[in-house]
Amino acid sequence: CKIDYRPSVELLAGRVILVTGAGDGIGRAAALAYAGHGATVILLGRTIAKLEKVYDEIEAAGGPQPAIFPLNFEGATLKDFQDMADTLDKEFGRLDGLLHNAGLLGRITPFEQYNPELWEQVMQVNFNGPIWMTQALLPLLKASKDASVIFTSSSVGRKGRAYWGGYAVSKFATEGFVEVLAEELEHLGTLRINSLNPGATRTQMRKTAYPAEDPDKLRTPDEIMPTYLWLMGPDSCGHNGERFDAQPPKS
Ligand code: NDP
Repeated sequence: CKIDYRPSVELLAGRVILVTGAGDGIGRAAALAYAGHGATVILLGRTIAKLEKVYDEIEAAGGPQPAIFPLNFEGATLKDFQDMADTLDKEFGRLDGLLHNAGLLGRITPFEQYNPELWEQVMQVNFNGPIWMTQALLPLLKASKDASVIFTSSSVGRKGRAYWGGYAVSKFATEGFVEVLAEELEHLGTLRINSLNPGATRTQMRKTAYPAEDPDKLRTPDEIMPTYLWLMGPDSCGHNGERFDAQPPKS
């Protein structure tokens, strides 16, 4: 956890970084923070109006001109990911950062009652889509001198919790995948892959999961950005296949 990290304004200058689920919650904050530290950010998500708002905010703050990439992980095919890689290759020729942030909660319900279609949907958005997108983008990530791939995890992806079903399992799968791919790519020395658990954060997803909780007691997405910046930027070089937390556990 690097909640006290103080990055330089130019931390990510000249870097091209893709953020999934960039229109809302933590992904929106990360897109703004990365652009605010000099990165050209590719805003990926399923609701174009939200992405356009973030685009305008980045422009208004004087950040490098971002790009919008509409994509819904539900129904996205391997061809969609390959087309995306081709477009980014033409436009930028490389990718220096990839934040897998888009996520779906599904339902918190006993497994006995869990709807299999919803389970598949959660696995598709939280795990299958992101890993095949990563496969398509690997050549672009390898073309960078120093690339960081961050997969978003959760505390229920590190210790199972009753009723969290597909969501928890998708995050466990994510943690396992990070270890597998990180070891495969270790020899490159230029591409690191880690997992990051944001911890309880004031977003719509958290509100849906814990409707009775007082949101004012939670950290905001902006407040957890120091760890997101550290793990995306050069100060985290040498860390590969590790698990990080964006905030200290609640005392
Ligand atoms: P939000 O629900 O606020 O945001 C989720 C983002 O993912 C939205 O931008 C949403 O798009 C996007 N998204 C959802 N489904 C799809 C899809 N099918 N295709 C493309 N994009 C999609 O959640 P948070 O910001 O809270 O969560 C961000 C990440 O952090 C998730 O991976 C979550 O699991 C994880 N996390 C969050 C915690 C918290 O306390 N908030 C705790 C632990 C982990 P749209 O805006 O269009 O709906």
